Amino acid sequence: MPSSVMPTSNSGDGRPSPTAVSTVGLRKSYGDRTVLDGIDLRIPAGSVFALLGPNGAGKTTVVKILSTLITADGGQAQVAGHDVAADPQSVRAAIGVTGQFSAVDGLITGEENMLLMADLHHLSKSEGRRVTAELLEQFDLTDAAGKPAQSYSGGMKRRLDIAMTLVGNPRIIFLDEPTTGLDPRSRHNMWQIIRELVADGVTVFLTTQYLEEADELADRIAVLNDGRIAAEGTAEELKRQIPGGHVRLRFTDPSAYRSAAAELGEVTRDDEALALQIPSDGSQRALRAVLDRLDSAAIEADELTVHTPDLDDVFFALTGGTGVPDQPKETVR
Ligand code: ADP
Repeated sequence: MPSSVMPTSNSGDGRPSPTAVSTVGLRKSYGDRTVLDGIDLRIPAGSVFALLGPNGAGKTTVVKILSTLITADGGQAQVAGHDVAADPQSVRAAIGVTGQFSAVDGLITGEENMLLMADLHHLSKSEGRRVTAELLEQFDLTDAAGKPAQSYSGGMKRRLDIAMTLVGNPRIIFLDEPTTGLDPRSRHNMWQIIRELVADGVTVFLTTQYLEEADELADRIAVLNDGRIAAEGTAEELKRQIPGGHVRLRFTDPSAYRSAAAELGEVTRDDEALALQIPSDGSQRALRAVLDRLDSAAIEADELTVHTPDLDDVFFALTGGTGVPDQPKETVR
């Protein structure tokens, strides 16, 4: 559908951006178990959104509701400008879904799976063959096209699944744990595929248990925990929400090091490495404050690095999981 039909909302910089997916107060229970307890989301068109959460958090449930496979008990959801409850047909026409409920039929070949999809989308025979050949090529499946899909590796099956989804040229794609169980190489291949989709202007709604994946791919991340969105923002914003970040200054001149330590006050000293550690959220403002103080005392550091807690720290802090490290990892970002 043309993006102009999508509702727009403020992107934060004052410019309106089309909204691909939005939900307000989405609720879902199974029996007396509340799985979703009021979920609010807004995903701008053309972006990658990652819904991150531990196993059983309700990620698939969100995807199922948004892709009209199940209905919510309460709240509202709009996808591509259509209400999922009032107009599920229009939602289905605008989206593609791949993931744990894969549409791949193992008994027929990859090519036959693709042609079947083309039929479902009412493409003509010649158009169906053209699109199939193109997508099989794009997803590196041409050589395997004549073999039954059940003989494919996990990575090949996922690629075929996405290729099948793309036959309908959807503008919004839901990828439910697209790399769970894949080896590192297949995972990186999948990341590349997702990046290419986004470069084509497709909106990607991704669920994942992998922090690294959300960090790599997503423009914005929401952490789902206990039926609610525990936090939402860019990876950097989420990392800044928990303590443990610091700025590290290193000196080669011992007297500069001592002057800086005296000037900055609240610091952790490493006399051997001539390095100072200053608690900081890593924001531009905080960095400028440190630099201004050094400048005004005419002290020059030889190296400055910003250390933020990584997404693992954020995730554990937000989801109340065990294994919260006492010290954030010393990764330079
Ligand atoms: P995730 O995708 O984050 O792993 P799910 O959305 O699959 O989580 O599941 C969330 C919770 O809802 C789990 O506790 C799961 O057992 C429960 N659940 C999911 N589907 C059903 C169902 N059809 N009937 C009963 N419980 C369900």
